Amino acid sequence: MAAQTMHRLLGDSVLRRKARRVPTIDRSIQRLIDDMVATMKQAGGVGLAAPQIGVSLRIIVLQMLGEEPMAIVNPEIVKRAGEREVTEACLSVPGYAGEIKRSASVTVKGQDRHGKAIRIKATGLMAQALEHELDHLDGVLYVDKTEPVKLHKIEPPTLEVGGD
Ligand code: ZN
Repeated sequence: MAAQTMHRLLGDSVLRRKARRVPTIDRSIQRLIDDMVATMKQAGGVGLAAPQIGVSLRIIVLQMLGEEPMAIVNPEIVKRAGEREVTEACLSVPGYAGEIKRSASVTVKGQDRHGKAIRIKATGLMAQALEHELDHLDGVLYVDKTEPVKLHKIEPPTLEVGGD
């Protein structure tokens, strides 16, 4: 798979599938992570999930402003606390953002790109991004989260997670 793989859009069935766990983190998985990071950077997003580039595996990547990109393989939310209203957008639903509710903080466990167990406690945008990307692994998009989601058009049209 080439770097900066084309991302998948709303309507593509891979975005609605429950992604499979990664049994072994080998070179091909590490290359996939590299492709995901390249695609995330090109799009200017703070996160990306493997189904967004057409791969139905439980892998997400995240990059907060000024920090190194990070990958989490087989991520699971083990704790959620609080609630806050956020503006959210998704690379797979270009041109729109909407207001939804997310947890104020989450704790996620999983593995890093070398297979080492990791556990992350996050608040704010990072917590929002983790919930958003984890939802992708279960075939859920932010536009499913509220009725009626107050969608509005945004510029530039491709944002992941942040919608302002
Ligand atoms: Zn998304």
